[in-house]
Order: sequence, then structure tokens, then C-alpha cells
Amino acid sequence: DNDNQTILITGGAGFIGSNFIPYFLDKYPEYNLVNLDLLTYAGNPENLKEVENHPRYKFIRGNICNRELVDFIFNEYDIRGVIHFAAESHVDNSIKNPGVFVETNVNGTYTLLDVTKNHWMEKPFTYKDDYQNCRFHHISTDEVYGTLGEDPNELFTEETPYAPNSPYSASKASSDMIVRSYVETFGMNCVITNCSNNYGPKQHDEKLIPTIIRNALQGNPIPIYGDGKNIRDWLYVLDHCKGIDLVYHNGKKGETYNIGGRNERTNLEIVNRICKILDEKVPRKNGESYKKLVTFVEDRAGHDRRYAIDATKIESELSWKADENFESGIIKTVDWYLKKYGVTK
Ligand code: NAD
Repeated sequence: DNDNQTILITGGAGFIGSNFIPYFLDKYPEYNLVNLDLLTYAGNPENLKEVENHPRYKFIRGNICNRELVDFIFNEYDIRGVIHFAAESHVDNSIKNPGVFVETNVNGTYTLLDVTKNHWMEKPFTYKDDYQNCRFHHISTDEVYGTLGEDPNELFTEETPYAPNSPYSASKASSDMIVRSYVETFGMNCVITNCSNNYGPKQHDEKLIPTIIRNALQGNPIPIYGDGKNIRDWLYVLDHCKGIDLVYHNGKKGETYNIGGRNERTNLEIVNRICKILDEKVPRKNGESYKKLVTFVEDRAGHDRRYAIDATKIESELSWKADENFESGIIKTVDWYLKKYGVTK
């Protein structure tokens, strides 16, 4: 029974959160959503234009590390669920400036979790007389598992030991551990999802796919790290959102679910596919393929070679499956950026 509950979303102005919020508002007419987002460089209010004046949506600009603010939100809105997206998310930035990753991803997650626990477990509680009805869903990444070799049978499962290699993945791994401890120590009703690389509309310009499209359209070199053979497992962002929805509602307390599209691609395959789509949709004036712009640059420090997810658990326990295949997803994505960059209407 989910009547009229208010759910706190954090980081909802970022890439995944801003795809999730319209989807969730539309799917659950009984939910009110409060979105707490600091609007760092990565958060963009444009991403949420479509729900800006929605009667069941409220935006609050603020920091998840601010205990008083988070406490105030719980008092004001009687929060019954938390879906926690807010994070520093770009690996390259974590190499230049790890401190803010520890602050937001570790301290921020701790603060949010601790205030949530206090409200749900230590105050007189009347809602359906059981705090176990309230769920805390922590959004995490497959990068916590470290890197895989090239053997295609090797995949990350929920049992794979954590071995994060970048300050980003280490900060996410730490936050996962703190969430775990609140389940084990305090009996909180938390779930964690660890997802592979997302792509789709609304992703920040700094990430791989928007970088490829933007540079191609400007006729600039398209930078690709190292030999371009690093492998990622790409998932269309709305398929991730559907997985979060299933785990938030039906996942087992204290459990982790990996979400991945069974769609491994090297960075070179990604750039070549996008260039081919652009060649067809917006051919270059000089008749050359956009592929000519691909330029290999010095590899990222500590660059993980391969990520790939075994999604058997969420597929079999919760009947999740990706609706989008890579072909349909990447074409939708390119079309969205062509509009964003003013190339098509
Ligand atoms: P993003 O960088 O696009 O968005 C992050 C959002 O969090 C932004 O709106 C930003 O303003 C907000 N934020 C940052 N620091 C904050 C703070 N201290 N307080 C409040 N808000 C703050 O990230 P994303 O790609 O949408 O990722 C969302 C979550 O999903 C992250 O936790 C990330 O680790 C995880 N994840 C992302 C991917 C991916 O491929 N993008 C894959 C797996 C997991």
C-alpha cells in the first residue's frame, strides 16, 4: 500500500535522477517527490523543466552533507522513502580533486543515512506502525568491483569482492559499506543497486558519449583514451530507472542488485557507431567521415580495462530486463543531442 507517501530524491537534477523523476511521477500518481540537489556544475535545472510546476514535485537546493537541512526536510515533509542519487560522478575529476568525492559521496551518504535513521527509528512513529515500510535506496556503480580481464566469461556478480581503483569508485565503495552497516547494525531497510555505464538524454557534456557528439559536430578532434579498447557495459538510462523502480519496491532488505545491459562495447566501437550515425544524419561538408576526427590521447591514470555485469539476480528475482537494445538506444541518444546542440529541431 503506497498511498500518498513522500519520497526524498537526492541528486535529481543530474543525469540519471532527472530521467528518473519524470518517469516516477508519471508511473505513481500517489507519490510526492522532494528533490534535494546542490546544483553543482553537474546539476542542471533545464533537465527538470518538464516537471518544474508539477503539483507533486518540489525542488530544494541544498547539500546532502548539511545535517540541519536534511533534518528540516524530514520534519517538514514526513519522508517515507529515500532514493539517493546525489554524488560526484566523474572519474577524471576524482583524479584531479579527490577531496570533494570523499565529502559528498562518503560524508554526504553518511549524513543522509544517519538523519534518515533517526527519523525512522528513534522518533515516535505512527506510519503503518512500522519503520520497515520505509525504504532507503542507495544508487551505486559497478566500478566498486574494480576491473575485469578480457575473458568474456568473467562478469561482476553481487558476490564479487570490492576492489575500487579510482578515488571515485573508492568513495562509492565506502558509501556502499556505510549503507550495509546501517542494515546490519540498526536493522534499517536499505537496498543498493550497482549499475553499469548509463547513456541517454541529459548526460553532462563532460562524459564520453556527449563529448564524442559535440566534438564531431564542431569538427574538433574526438579524444579517446589510450588504445580505445577499454570495455564498458552500456545501459540505456531509462532501463536503469526501471530497475531502480523494481528494486525500490520489491528488492529484499539489505540486498544488493547489479544492473547491466549485457551490452559490452569498447570505446572504439562506441565512437565508430556514433560517427557512422552522424555520417548518415548530418554528413560533413568535406565529405569525410567523422571517424577521421578520432584522436588517441594519453590514457587515464588507473584506467580500468573492462567492466561487465552479470544481471541474473535482478532478472530472475525481479523480472527486470532492458527494453532498449544498443542500436535503438544510441540512435535515440544521438537524436536528443542533435536537438540539444541546435543541429535539428
Ligand atoms: P550526475 O553527476 O549527472 O548528477 C549528480 C547530481 O548530484 C547533480 O545534480 C549534482 O548537482 C548533485 N549533487 C552533487 N553533490 C551534491 C551534494 N553534496 N548535495 C546534493 N546534491 C549534490 O550523476 P549521474 O550520472 O546522474 O549519477 C547519479 C548516481 O548514479 C551517482 O550516485 C552515480 O555514482 C551513480 N551511477 C552513475 C552511473 C552513470 O553511468 N552515470 C552508473 C552507475 C551509477
